[in-house]
Amino acid sequence: MKRILAAVIAVSFIVFFPACKKGKTGAKNQDGLNVVAVNFPPYDFVRAIAKDSGSAGPNLAMLLPPAAESHSFEPSPQDIITIQNSDVFIYTGGESDVWVDRIFESMDTSKIKIIRMMDAVDVVEEEIVEGMEEEEEPPDSAEEGVAYDEHVWTSPKNAIRIVRAITGALCEVDAANAALFRKNSDAYIKSLEKLDSDFQAVVDGAKRKTIVFGDRFPFRYFADAYGLKYFAAFPGCSTETEPAAATVAFLINKIRAEKIPVVFHIELSNEKMADTIAAETGAKKLLFHSCHNISKKDFDAGLTFLQIQMANVPRLREALQ
Ligand SMILES: [Zn+2]
Repeated sequence: MKRILAAVIAVSFIVFFPACKKGKTGAKNQDGLNVVAVNFPPYDFVRAIAKDSGSAGPNLAMLLPPAAESHSFEPSPQDIITIQNSDVFIYTGGESDVWVDRIFESMDTSKIKIIRMMDAVDVVEEEIVEGMEEEEEPPDSAEEGVAYDEHVWTSPKNAIRIVRAITGALCEVDAANAALFRKNSDAYIKSLEKLDSDFQAVVDGAKRKTIVFGDRFPFRYFADAYGLKYFAAFPGCSTETEPAAATVAFLINKIRAEKIPVVFHIELSNEKMADTIAAETGAKKLLFHSCHNISKKDFDAGLTFLQIQMANVPRLREALQ
């Protein structure tokens, strides 16, 4: 019902405000490019690419509020106007973003440069591994029955491909800043390559190749990139947070049998399952941050995708000891 209501509101706003292409509220610069990112990773990528562009640079907005649950996001009427006024719109294209296709059906998108992050990489299906709880209802996927994993940015290799796609789009619509965007993008990609080689070095020097999450697992692309095996309670986009006793028992047994030193949880989690597993096994509970969203405090402090991922490196080293 909530979704239907939101769609009705969305459509009425498009009908009543059909012609407000420019003049976005809160824009620092009326003439600048309006770039809208649905969630944190592309928001931060644009920030890195447009660094030092000052008042000539893009007006950047992130739709998902900091700390909000990304899988149940519904756009407000104001969000719809923000999207309608955007010159560049970046979204993931997965389960969390099915509302985007619904909105685009009734919106004139001919003047908006749209980037779907899942188009920039090779997508894989969300995977159910041994011990993992499958969702009861089939996921509401935009891909006709196949649930492709939307967490494409978790692998630095993919992040590089996404940054390249965003850079290309920004340069196309803002030729005046293109040289700066390309320079920033090249430097940023070098940092992402360093991050990738740091993760690779940790895995190459590790005793084990298995990680355990007492939580959801949005790291399929990350695990694939480094040849890691994983066990977790739920797939990445699961709406479940209360595990069955058998799920917890499976993970506890796995940690005991393989003497795995760390149990991970993801960001903005209630951490209850990881707490239980840590208490039962003596494994250390650590955060492995997927960057799906960040806390209000971290957002206000200007924390970046790169900083978050760099903090994951020593945690992975500890988990693979
Ligand atoms: Zn997700």
